[in-house]
Amino acid sequence: MDISVVIPLLNEEESLPELSEWIDRVMRDNNFSYEVIFVDDGSTDSSWNVIQELRAKNDSIKGIKFQRNYGKSAALNEAFRASQGDVVITMDADLQDSPDEIPELRRMIVEDKYDLVSGWKKVRYDNTLTKNIPSKFFNAVTSKVSKIKLHDFNCGLKSYNKKVVKSIEVYGEMHRYIPVIAKWAGFRKIGEKVVEHRKRKYGVTKFGWDRFINGFLDLMSITFVGKFSKNLCTFLVYGE
Ligand code: UDP
Ligand code: MG
Repeated sequence: MDISVVIPLLNEEESLPELSEWIDRVMRDNNFSYEVIFVDDGSTDSSWNVIQELRAKNDSIKGIKFQRNYGKSAALNEAFRASQGDVVITMDADLQDSPDEIPELRRMIVEDKYDLVSGWKKVRYDNTLTKNIPSKFFNAVTSKVSKIKLHDFNCGLKSYNKKVVKSIEVYGEMHRYIPVIAKWAGFRKIGEKVVEHRKRKYGVTKFGWDRFINGFLDLMSITFVGKFSKNLCTFLVYGE
């Protein structure tokens, strides 16, 4: 299978039919064999029914359902375990990411041999005060701490060589730092592609201010774990 498209979602019933139709169109135009894995992260609207209806019409569409809301990281993690494609592409469910980016994101993995390619929403259509300014600060700090040159760590649209998703574990609020986790796991060829960002068409954002506090705590723990594991390796080498 060429591509697994992984889509975590919480209460996105209105977007799902349009999104899956658009993905299917792109896949057909490019002759890609694919699966879409929708992970329903505890929706209380009819998202799960919609996924089942979509699957009845197209068996490339698959669904995982959580009994409650475990968070975007857990949703990505489960889909990574289940995915079968050679390239795995993650995107948000709310139509803010464009499926038209899929062919180039895949090409950069297959031909340019990137381990991970992160989208960069260079022009954003979010509320400037609550999203853009804090996010610039976050990206600058994360880039400095991790020494990874990305502008938009938290972009939902990313592509991966399947080796990466099968080697990493994403939990807590760590989905914001997947490039850092991948680097610590030994995947150093990390690239970036400017991607189109669109206005949210239906529904509302699921992340508030608390994302910054949780996000920072996770960055600290991930840095600590990374440093510690490096020291541990050094110790083991000297210990022999
Ligand atoms: N999401 C999720 N679980 C959560 C919160 C969000 O699966 O607990 C999904 C959400 O449905 C969307 C994606 O993660 O598909 C990004 O969320 P959102 O669009 O609300 O974030 P924003 O674009 O506002 O940063
Ligand atoms: Mg969104």
